[in-house]
Amino acid sequence: MSLTDDATSLLIIIVDTNPVWWGLSQGKGDGQLTLSQCLDNVLVCANSHLMMNHKNKLAVIASHTNASHFLYPRPDLDQRTTEGTETANGQTVPGDGRHELFSIVNESIRKQIKELVLSGLCGELFSDSLLAGSMAMALCYIHRLEKECVAGEEMSARILIVKGSEDNPAQYMNFMNVVFTAQKQNVVIDACILDNDSGLLQQACDITGGIYLKIPQMTGLLQYLLWVFLPDKSTRDKLTLPPKAQVDYRAACFCHRTLIDVGYVCSVCLSIFCHFSPICSTCQTTFRFLGPPKSLKKKGKRSAVS
Ligand SMILES: [Zn+2]
Ligand SMILES: [Zn+2]
Repeated sequence: MSLTDDATSLLIIIVDTNPVWWGLSQGKGDGQLTLSQCLDNVLVCANSHLMMNHKNKLAVIASHTNASHFLYPRPDLDQRTTEGTETANGQTVPGDGRHELFSIVNESIRKQIKELVLSGLCGELFSDSLLAGSMAMALCYIHRLEKECVAGEEMSARILIVKGSEDNPAQYMNFMNVVFTAQKQNVVIDACILDNDSGLLQQACDITGGIYLKIPQMTGLLQYLLWVFLPDKSTRDKLTLPPKAQVDYRAACFCHRTLIDVGYVCSVCLSIFCHFSPICSTCQTTFRFLGPPKSLKKKGKRSAVS
């Protein structure tokens, strides 16, 4: 957003398209958005990002109940950006720059989301979305674009997650791996929460220096997107943004994938368990919990830590 900064800024928006949550939220009455209204808001935010700087880049990923899909860019629809449009007398004229791009972005996203919703009509539905997978896809895309950068060209990337459905602690391991990778790659993760507070995303935003905000009113989504999430990291320092959320730093145990406050940690591989077990199920280390003092003299190879 800063005018002096000439680096490419890549914004990846991950939209939660979980059909169970979107279906339930419609039953809650006034003050709720439909998925298509939410997408309209996201599209305005996406177009605004592209309008900020001609070098800015965009990607939109749908985080669905059983898969993650790129809504934009799509290689099959992207061709038209370079081809230009054909006039009535058969002449090809170049596309009119940004307007052309906006319509391609909007059309691509609408078309893909329609296919996604229709494809989900048959089959099993779950109340959680594959967020960790979507974030991994985003990181891979960022990595690819960084490799394609010409020497001397700088690119900053960030991920904005618009999420409503519940967390799934079963994704904890993958999720945290993705978050630490993002931290290493200097990718900021922002979370715009529509409904259920997400402990996992609170940690993700805290670790990567992003903003976690559960919006008070869903109908004001566009305003929050434009005021809080559109400015990049350097601009945010100059703004008065909503105060930081309390971070729920609970970890999920490796045995049941439930979030726990106090647990047992394997002293060898740092796996977390909610109950004591004499053999670590991750690294197979055996613990002699009440061993005789002699065992300490053997340099304490194996020990249990609570
Ligand atoms: Zn457990
Ligand atoms: Zn272990």
